[in-house]
Amino acid sequence: MKKILIIEDEKSIAELERDYLEVNGFETEIAFTGEDGLIKATTKEYDLILLDLMLPGMDGFELCKQIRQVKDIPILMVTARKEDIDMIRGFDRGADDYIAKPFNPNELVARVKAHLTRYDRLVNKSHSKKEIRVQGLYIDESSRQIFINGEEKQFTAKEFDLLTFLASNPNQVFSKDHLFERIWGIDAFGDISTVTVHVRKIREKIEMNPSTPIFIETVWGVGYRFKEFG
Ligand code: CA
Repeated sequence: MKKILIIEDEKSIAELERDYLEVNGFETEIAFTGEDGLIKATTKEYDLILLDLMLPGMDGFELCKQIRQVKDIPILMVTARKEDIDMIRGFDRGADDYIAKPFNPNELVARVKAHLTRYDRLVNKSHSKKEIRVQGLYIDESSRQIFINGEEKQFTAKEFDLLTFLASNPNQVFSKDHLFERIWGIDAFGDISTVTVHVRKIREKIEMNPSTPIFIETVWGVGYRFKEFG
């Protein structure tokens, strides 16, 4: 059974969300404050989070950012303010979607289902994919070997993990923060410049011309994206 965390300080809304989700076969848990939501979200297992933006104490954006450092499950922001919606659209690290209050509970359930399906597909895809072949680049995940045009190249463990992660999720932009946390872990020693250095080393090995890379694209001001080859 999929488990949803509801972070919402208004009791009636939290209960409305809970009731509709439970009727539709979900298990739910409610956090009435941002602090409680953060503790629950980071220490327990959920499949999706419904996050109210207007919370006493901790701002929903800050909360989302902190949850994102440890979880990559879908986060749907719920808000009544038009300005928030504009901000969510421009918010590069965090929310997967937003729902405007007042919402139609059936639509909320439909969105939750859609995001869970999408996320499952993403996770299964990256788990089942053991070989990646694109444009002369061949990654064998089980033997941890990488070949360029048939010639094996040597990669450090982190270079391998970083390239494989990006190549497994083509056409998605990841921030350097996200990549650092994902590959090195939040407690690791280092910072986002570590990511830059590793990308440079990877490019030197896989690109014909590292200064005009074709595999890992730099998205200025945001991060990196592995190109999707048709
Ligand atoms: Ca609220």
